[in-house]
Amino acid sequence: MEIINRRLTIHEFRNYVRDYFFGTHPANKLVIHHTWRPTKSQWQGQTSINGLRAYYEGKTWPAGPHIFVAEDGIWLFSPMNKDGIHAGTLNARSIGIEIVGDYDNEIWSGQTKENALGVIQVLMEKLNLNASNIAFHRDVSPKTCPGSAITKEWLFNELSNFRIKPRIPNPITDGIPVPADDEVLIPIWATDAVSFVLKNRLFEIKSKDDVRDAVKFYRFYQIIRDV
Ligand SMILES: [Zn+2]
Repeated sequence: MEIINRRLTIHEFRNYVRDYFFGTHPANKLVIHHTWRPTKSQWQGQTSINGLRAYYEGKTWPAGPHIFVAEDGIWLFSPMNKDGIHAGTLNARSIGIEIVGDYDNEIWSGQTKENALGVIQVLMEKLNLNASNIAFHRDVSPKTCPGSAITKEWLFNELSNFRIKPRIPNPITDGIPVPADDEVLIPIWATDAVSFVLKNRLFEIKSKDDVRDAVKFYRFYQIIRDV
């Protein structure tokens, strides 16, 4: 079984989807599931993905669901430009999204919730979908999937209040040199500039050149605002 087998953050997923070719007949609905088992605490990342793949291969399925949303990230499974196997009559032109955990008695929480709402929102935007294009597995199955505690009313209310949190730059992985604490006192205006750019999501800060740009932009903004 061909699987993508990549784990992404929600920001990486958003970039991935932005450039992704969904085929000449792209998916026109999302189908939401829960894994039930493994539960959130049983999830072991790559080991669990390998186990799921072996499980579907054991059924001789050529594909499975498209995405597993977990506490440790968004796992790409079957390619989103091909039909998966996850929801019987809803398999055609749908994207199957498995939320890792058992949601018969509790709702999504923690990073799983952030990732789940983020994935659904990003795909709805990209594929031009509205609430009527969101299906639950139980719409076509006697199962409770995606869990009795999850209702569409709750989900749509959560989605309407949800925005992906701006990415916080990591000075180490982003290559921004960090001076020792006693070496440099970062001026307030520079901190203000960076937080202003991040808060208003004007651009992503990835390098020290971007930090300079943020400061320049902020000064310019202050000048024109005061004129
Ligand atoms: Zn399901």
